[in-house]
Amino acid sequence: MRRTRNAGIALSIVAAMTLAACSAGEPGGTDETPAGTAEETDAGTSGAGGEGITVGIKFDQPGLGLQEGSEYTGFDVDVARYVADKLGYSEDQIEFVESVSSQRETLLENGSVDMIFATYSITDARKERVAFAGPYFVAGQDLLVTSDNSDITGPDTLDGKVLCSVEGSTSAERIRDDYSQGVELYPAQTYSECVELLSAGTIDAVTTDDVILAGYASQPAYGGQFKVVGNPFSEENYGVGLPKDNDVCEDVNAAITEMIDDGTWEELIAKNVGESFTPNADLNPPTPAPCA
Ligand code: GLU
Repeated sequence: MRRTRNAGIALSIVAAMTLAACSAGEPGGTDETPAGTAEETDAGTSGAGGEGITVGIKFDQPGLGLQEGSEYTGFDVDVARYVADKLGYSEDQIEFVESVSSQRETLLENGSVDMIFATYSITDARKERVAFAGPYFVAGQDLLVTSDNSDITGPDTLDGKVLCSVEGSTSAERIRDDYSQGVELYPAQTYSECVELLSAGTIDAVTTDDVILAGYASQPAYGGQFKVVGNPFSEENYGVGLPKDNDVCEDVNAAITEMIDDGTWEELIAKNVGESFTPNADLNPPTPAPCA
């Protein structure tokens, strides 16, 4: 029965989360508080409005935005550094702040960050609260399953399955809006939490953008446990999140255009995600949209 089944799932999710906590420190582990508050990093003094620039990124998405000690790596991080440089900020003037999906608008609204580069899809709903430069990349929503799974082949094969996605993401919203029939959605704070649940066998699939899922699947720590289904069912235009009132959107777009034209975009893709993922060449690299 549904109620019994839910209780079982809830219990095993708790068990898996305990396991996840034990594996903190590994790629995809959950070693920082994913509560969504802006966690200030380093001893930087360059808060919003100060001499430097505060940039929101993901801390747990390999190949895109990853924090390991004091090191930040990934395509979003490198794009942020390129754009910041064009705006006149050196690398040591950038302070990276974790921006989990559900907190991104709030962090921009309350001035905790100046800009966000965090697999952040441009949507009309988000434009009510924040502004976007870009897009600088186009991904598509997909599914991550265990390598031996053969019955999940796309969003129409999820009947009776338990799915994990992240609160405040377009991924969770699309499942709720378009595919909710017969699907059980577990909302997490970060995708690395979801991947731990998949690894523990607690859920059947993780859903978010293909490039994010490919980053987890390629982690040596998971030793080929997972595969990306490869049947994308959305277009996610990654933008640079900005406060609604800003005077930098045009400059950020100019920097993105230059990054694409001078070959850096291609290099950064190859360096950060090239081994695990091939971007959709019909949609990439995109042309930034005019600022509103
Ligand atoms: N690109 C999607 C979004 O902005 C999913 C990835 C994410 O949550 O960062 O909601």
